[in-house]
Amino acid sequence: MTYSNTQLFIDGKWLDAASGKTIAVVNPSTGKELGHVAHASKADLDLALVAAQKGFETWRDMTASARSQIMRKAAGLLRKRAETIGRLITQEQGKPLAESKGEAMAAADIIEWFADEGFRVYGRIVPSRFNLAIRQMVLKDPVGPVVAFTPWNFPINQVVRKVAAALSAGCSILVKAPEETPAGPAGLIQAFADSGLPPGVLGLVFGDPAEISSYLIPHPIIRKVTFTGSTPVGKQLAALAGQHMKRVSMELGGHAPVIVAEDADIALAVKAAGAAKFRNAGQICISPTRFLVHESIANEFGAALAKQASALKVGDGLTQGTQMGPLANPRRLTAINEFAKDAIERGAELLSGGARIGDSGNFFQPTVLANVPIDAKVFNDEPFGPIAAIRKFNTLEDAIIEANRLPYGLAGYAFTHSLKNADLLARRVEVGMLWVNQLALPSAELPFGGIKDSGYGSEGGPEAVDAYLNTRAVSITNV
Ligand code: NAD
Repeated sequence: MTYSNTQLFIDGKWLDAASGKTIAVVNPSTGKELGHVAHASKADLDLALVAAQKGFETWRDMTASARSQIMRKAAGLLRKRAETIGRLITQEQGKPLAESKGEAMAAADIIEWFADEGFRVYGRIVPSRFNLAIRQMVLKDPVGPVVAFTPWNFPINQVVRKVAAALSAGCSILVKAPEETPAGPAGLIQAFADSGLPPGVLGLVFGDPAEISSYLIPHPIIRKVTFTGSTPVGKQLAALAGQHMKRVSMELGGHAPVIVAEDADIALAVKAAGAAKFRNAGQICISPTRFLVHESIANEFGAALAKQASALKVGDGLTQGTQMGPLANPRRLTAINEFAKDAIERGAELLSGGARIGDSGNFFQPTVLANVPIDAKVFNDEPFGPIAAIRKFNTLEDAIIEANRLPYGLAGYAFTHSLKNADLLARRVEVGMLWVNQLALPSAELPFGGIKDSGYGSEGGPEAVDAYLNTRAVSITNV
């Protein structure tokens, strides 16, 4: 299996870091080194910044139609290359190949939707209250060069949501993609480069995340910051951006409640929530994490979920039939082990899994815990791994109180046959996205983002483009 080293993409060219420094990339299924990624220093970042400003001035002045044609071409190339890019993602991130390929295909859909949305960046004309000779216009302009920080769990998807929206608004964008999974994002950037994107419009760097963010966020060329990652890091970056009055979008951690009401279709709840739970080994910000199940059906639900979890085929993502890959890095393996151990020590009942698989690679069993105490770490901190933690509830009001107890507010799920229950949950559960009686189905046209400590701003729908636009008022008197 071929895996090539990843360079920096600056001013339309692939370059080694000026210092020659690199970082090793490791396959989480084997623990073995796959290759290297270039480690940018300030000299590289300075080149990337100048290119981003130049790229912005070119891209800003192109028509929506010209931009859209380039974006659509990139989407087409991505579809053609989905198998190759998917293999890179699986090797460096671990997820099953079908999920990796699906990520590349979904990225193409996202680019196309935003390519079209760029045609709908409308201003408006506001009648003057004083004089009909005054023409008052509301104009929408791109904010300018953007810097994006993206994580390793969806190496392409996390990048494309930012890149496609920024490009459709007329911004240039410099991406600091994850050092652990660099080749997938490089494949995405290559598709744009091969589609005629002018140099500097899109840049890609890697290095020391804290060093890069502390240099780029305050830099006067950068006008907007977008970050996806953990809540603690998001708070630090938002604070830094605030000091420099930079526009910010933050897509942060979650701790999604799954409310299974007394009247729920239990088989549907197990199938849908179970599939969502163990997808990408639970390393998804909208992964279901707190299963709140009515006490009359909790035992039945727990047993069925445990049966589904233990039947999952865990292994190398490139092996045919694998349903769940390894955890993406050893940090997650340690963390998930601790979540399980802590819950069991506090009295949770282990229904399935609970341990590492083998001693090479970061494999962990799909785990289901029942009667988890409210003070268990897994019910309070974002687990970001393959653990389903179940608690019983008595009234729907109690479930809503528990759902809203944590500072997170990203995704939520509910299963009920009652329209009255569904409506109450829609109004009262404090999340940015709620799915009732179904799997999570995010798509480019729907808002994607959280409230409370899960961040602000949206990465889907027209709101995602708004996040990269300035609104200005211009009045012209016809003399
Ligand atoms: P982490 O908090 O150290 O890093 C999270 C992400 O932020 C990584 O991509 C990292 O490169 C980046 N980052 C860290 N410090 C940074 C800085 N100072 N400037 C710029 N970027 C910075 O943790 P981790 O071990 O990589 O991931 C674990 C946690 O991150 C998870 O528990 C989960 O909460 C969160 N996470 C969330 C998402 C998401 O989709 N919202 C994705 C990946 C990780």
